[in-house]
Amino acid sequence: MNAPNIAPQRKTYDAIVVGSGITGGWAAKEFTERGLDTLVLERGRNVTHGEDYITEHKPSWEMDFHGQGNKQEFEEHYPRQSMAGPFNAYNKHFFVKDSKYPYTFDEEEPFLWVRGYHLGGRSITWGRADCQDRRVTVNGDMPVLQPRTAASSLSSMLVLSMRLC
Ligand SMILES: Cc1cc2nc3c(=O)[nH]c(=O)nc-3n(C[C@H](O)[C@H](O)[C@H](O)COP(=O)(O)OP(=O)(O)OC[C@H]3O[C@@H](n4cnc5c(N)ncnc54)[C@H](O)[C@@H]3O)c2cc1C
Repeated sequence: MNAPNIAPQRKTYDAIVVGSGITGGWAAKEFTERGLDTLVLERGRNVTHGEDYITEHKPSWEMDFHGQGNKQEFEEHYPRQSMAGPFNAYNKHFFVKDSKYPYTFDEEEPFLWVRGYHLGGRSITWGRADCQDRRVTVNGDMPVLQPRTAASSLSSMLVLSMRLC
C-alpha cells in the first residue's frame, strides 16, 4: 500500500503546551490572550461540552446495576481509580482504565494516581472545592495574597466537606 502523499508542514509556534488540563489549559489561555501563537498537545480524546456528558441527567434505572456500578468491572479495570471518592458508574469514562494504563508503586508507600486522559484532564471530574484564601490586598498594581489564617482554613474545609456531602 502506498503511503499517503502528505507534504510535511513546518510551522513555528511561540509556545507549545503539553496537556489540556487546568494547568495547560490556563497556560494556553494566557499565552493566546497575549497574542502568542500557541499549540496545545493533548494525548486523550476530545470532549465536546454537553454532548459528551453521556450520563448527565440519566436516571439510575437506565444505568447498569441501577447506577451502582459493575463491581467486577471496577475491580478489573479501575482498581486504583475507583479508590478516588467521587469515582462512580456515572463518571467512570472520565477516568483512565488502570488495566490499560497501569503504574507501579511501593506497596509500603502506596500512591493513588488518579488520571483522566481527555480534553480538560481532571478539570472534568474535580469537585469544585477551592481551598484558596480569597482575601487579596492590592499593593500598587500587584494583587497580594494574604497568608491563610486558621479561621479561613476552617471555613474552606467546611465548604469542601459540604460540597463533598
Ligand atoms: C475526582 C477528583 C476530584 C477533585 N476535586 C478537587 C477539588 O474539589 N478541588 C481541587 O482544588 N482539586 C480537585 N481535584 C484535583 C484537580 O482536579 C487537579 O489537581 C487538577 O485538575 C490537575 O490539573 P492539571 O492540569 O495539573 O492535570 P490534569 O488535569 O491531569 O491534566 C493533564 C492533561 O495532560 C494530558 N497529558 C498527560 N500526558 C500527556 C502527554 N504525554 N502528551 C499530551 N498530553 C498529555 C492528560 O490527558 C490531561 O488532559 C480533584 C481531582 C479528582 C480526580
